Amino acid sequence: MKPSTGHCIFCDLIRGAAEVSICYEDATAIAFLDIQPVNPGHVLVVPREHYEVLQDIPGDVGAHLYQAAVKLIPVVQTAAGATDMNIVVNSGAAAGQNVMHYHIHLIPRKAGDGFDVPLPFPGSPMPHRQQLDAMAARIGGMLRDPLRSGGKKNG
Ligand code: 5GP
Ligand code: ZN
Repeated sequence: MKPSTGHCIFCDLIRGAAEVSICYEDATAIAFLDIQPVNPGHVLVVPREHYEVLQDIPGDVGAHLYQAAVKLIPVVQTAAGATDMNIVVNSGAAAGQNVMHYHIHLIPRKAGDGFDVPLPFPGSPMPHRQQLDAMAARIGGMLRDPLRSGGKKNG
């Protein structure tokens, strides 16, 4: 486990030091209602242990979080009276992560609810195929040679 560098509100919630509305918990994962929901039923699926971003999470914990999310999604959707769901992870501060304890957002959606995750982002250009191919080759090369990517090989 990567220890929290500084105060973590989610660690507080998990150890019962602050008010929280829990909808699911087991030995590894906990899910609770977001304090400022995008839509009713907005749930956060969170590892009990403190990890910051997705690549910090051991594979078995990551798989467990995924399974918990899959179990929750249809139930949360129905409970919220929604028809669909955005599953969102903001991994890192520049990607919009505000609470640096990894979490998966389950955001119930229905037509006309006013929320949007606009992809493709309006106005973003479509690169030439050569540019997409070059980036794909770069990523593939780094995966084959972890030293070039400066990171660890994740299986
Ligand atoms: P992030 O921007 O890190 O992806 O999302 C953080 C989420 O945590 C936000 O949606 C925010 O509303 C929620 N949040 C922040 N503080 C608390 C809290 O004290 N309790 C709960 N339940 N949710 C929180
Ligand atoms: Zn934490």
